[in-house]
Amino acid sequence: MAAVAVVGAGVAGLAAAFRLQRRGVRVVVYESSGRVGGSILTERRDGYVADLGPNSLAAPSPAVRTLFQELGLEDNLVSASSQARHRYIVRKGKLVALPMSPPELLTTRLLSNSAKLAVFGEPLVEAGDSRVEESVGTFVRRRFNQEVLDYVANPFVAGIFAGDPEQLSVRYALPRLHALERSHGSVIKALVQMKGGGALVSFRSGLQELPDALARELGSAVRLGAPVTLLRRGPKGWTVGAAFQASELYDGVIFAAPAHCIDDVDLGFEGGERVRTLASIHHPPVGVLVLGFRREQVSHPLDGFGFLTPEVERRSVLGVIFSSTLFAGRAPQGHCTLTAFVGGVRNPDLANADLNTITARVLDDLGALLGVDGEPTFRTFHLWPKAIPQYALSHGRFKDTMDEVERRNPGLTFVGAYRDGVALGEVLASGEEAAERTAERLGAGERAEPA
Ligand SMILES: Cc1cc2nc3c(=O)[nH]c(=O)nc-3n(C[C@H](O)[C@H](O)[C@H](O)COP(=O)(O)OP(=O)(O)OC[C@H]3O[C@@H](n4cnc5c(N)ncnc54)[C@H](O)[C@@H]3O)c2cc1C
Repeated sequence: MAAVAVVGAGVAGLAAAFRLQRRGVRVVVYESSGRVGGSILTERRDGYVADLGPNSLAAPSPAVRTLFQELGLEDNLVSASSQARHRYIVRKGKLVALPMSPPELLTTRLLSNSAKLAVFGEPLVEAGDSRVEESVGTFVRRRFNQEVLDYVANPFVAGIFAGDPEQLSVRYALPRLHALERSHGSVIKALVQMKGGGALVSFRSGLQELPDALARELGSAVRLGAPVTLLRRGPKGWTVGAAFQASELYDGVIFAAPAHCIDDVDLGFEGGERVRTLASIHHPPVGVLVLGFRREQVSHPLDGFGFLTPEVERRSVLGVIFSSTLFAGRAPQGHCTLTAFVGGVRNPDLANADLNTITARVLDDLGALLGVDGEPTFRTFHLWPKAIPQYALSHGRFKDTMDEVERRNPGLTFVGAYRDGVALGEVLASGEEAAERTAERLGAGERAEPA
């Protein structure tokens, strides 16, 4: 029986391992920490369900839906409330709804008349030179103007990457946006033709249900507290060494730990030194503070997904999700939950500050923007010291390195948030695809039926 080692029990590694096991491959998942889920972390306490990492999964693909079915999670799926369609952006210290249609764009207070003209005129702007790699900032300024960058793209990028549009590559960080210019000659024209953004989903007891269900299926194949320290290719296959474990031999390895962890591993294969450069992908810190309040402590109607703050507004929070509006069952009766994100590329020092400082700064913003009054009835916090990989300019060289090293080392695959998108749906898909490719190479079992 073929055997594959998976490094890391985040959703990428778990999804890969689950698919391999279904294909009849013997699989071992090595996880350095004492829990599964990686960036997914749900705390359930005092009637609150608090997601301290991702809060939702956007528009699950048919393959992801099939995975939920196989895991028996379908009955636990929850969809975002219809109110969550509305999103707010901070402008001049007030929440302004993000316009969702051309008529709303005409009347919005989010943009000045000159910015509106730039939006309506965008279809007339010629496509850029596809050989030149642009930052998100340059792309948006070229197709729109500085104000659209400040009040739309900047907060949007803070919401997805906790990143800076001047540093992120539009081609790699926002590939769909980049492709729209090529396919439609205009971002706006394409967006108007598209129907909705797809549903957001989670699970009744929070996103942690997903890695927990995958780990249940994998049973003793998951080894916690087992940080991989050695990956070596030899004539008989792959030797995997982990702390507190005897080294073992495998036919393949799926590396699903974050890129910054590569420095902790002794890499004994062709191109190992080049792979080490992946550790230089920047992962800024992000702090997630989940606060509960009695509903009457918050004067805002909380009728939306939440709000994002443009950097030019100089707030402490990157954004806040109205978690108890987004999904039912996140707060006890008569209470509400607000999930605030701080830090990122914009303000790493704040993520690393002490909890009282962070709470005070977040409460200042919540007071001013949502009319929050008084002390929270619930509080929990998590610091992600290296949160989200930044697909910076020339991220392509990292992708080339992975492609090249995989070609030279059959049986080795890299998956995870640093490769083909940071969103959960993308990470799950990359894990499953890696497993299918690996299983095929090893001549294992039947391919899963397409959904
Ligand atoms: C605060 C925050 C909010 C987010 N919000 C959203 C959202 O709302 N929607 C969305 O779609 N996405 C969101 N994301 C992104 C998404 O959660 C991540 O991209 C995704 O979970 C990453 O999964 P992964 O499996 O690639 O890596 P990880 O989840 O990082 O898992 C990697 C695992 O590898 C382990 N590991 C590390 N080194 C070793 C080693 N040497 N040996 C063994 N194991 C090792 C780690 O302990 C970890 O468990 C968010 C991310 C963060 C941090």
